[in-house]
Amino acid sequence: MPQQDATDSYPMTLGEEPRFCPACGRPVEERVLEEDHRPRLVCPDGHVTWRNPRVVVGTFPVRDGRVYLARRAIEPALGRWGNPSGFLEVGEAVEEGARRETEEETELRVEIGELVGVYSRPHAGIVTIVYEATVVGGRPEPAAETSEVREFGPDEIPWDELAFSTVESALRDWVARQPGRERRHEPELYVEGDPDDG
Ligand SMILES: [Zn+2]
Repeated sequence: MPQQDATDSYPMTLGEEPRFCPACGRPVEERVLEEDHRPRLVCPDGHVTWRNPRVVVGTFPVRDGRVYLARRAIEPALGRWGNPSGFLEVGEAVEEGARRETEEETELRVEIGELVGVYSRPHAGIVTIVYEATVVGGRPEPAAETSEVREFGPDEIPWDELAFSTVESALRDWVARQPGRERRHEPELYVEGDPDDG
C-alpha cells in the first residue's frame, strides 16, 4: 500500500481559496445562502464562486493481459508508479481525455475499452475515472512527466510503490476482473479516512 497518499496535499488541485469574484473582481466572503447547507464564496453583488471536484481521466493500457504503468517524474509521488491520467479539459469528452493523456504520457496508441471504475478523493477534491484501453500502436516510452514505462502482469503489480490510493483502488478492481479471478465489489480504499470526510 502507498506509504502516504500524495493527494493529501490537496492545494495541488483545489488551489487556494479565491479571494476575488471571477465575475466582477470584488472581494468574496464565506456565506451560507438561503436554503443552502454549507458556506459559499459570495461577493457583494451576490455572485457565487462555485467550487466543485475536478475530474481526472486515465487508462490502464493493456496488451496480452499485461498493464502498462508509468513511473512519475514529477511531484507529487515522484518516482512512484501510476497509470496515465490527467485533468479532463473543458470541451473534451471523458474518453477523448483519457486517450490523450495516455498518448502524452506513454507514447502508446490506445482504443478505449471498458470502464474500470470511478474513484473519489473527497479531501483532494478529485474524481478519477479509469478505463481499460487496448494498445493498438506506438511504443512504450517515457514522455511528459514520466521517467519509465513498464508492463506488469496481474501478479506483478508494484503495490508498495503506487502513487495514489485511487491508482491502488482501480488496479485492485482491474486485477479482480482478470480471467480466473473472483470479480466482486469492494469499497474504495481510504475514502472513509479522508480528513475532510464529514
Ligand atoms: Zn461578483
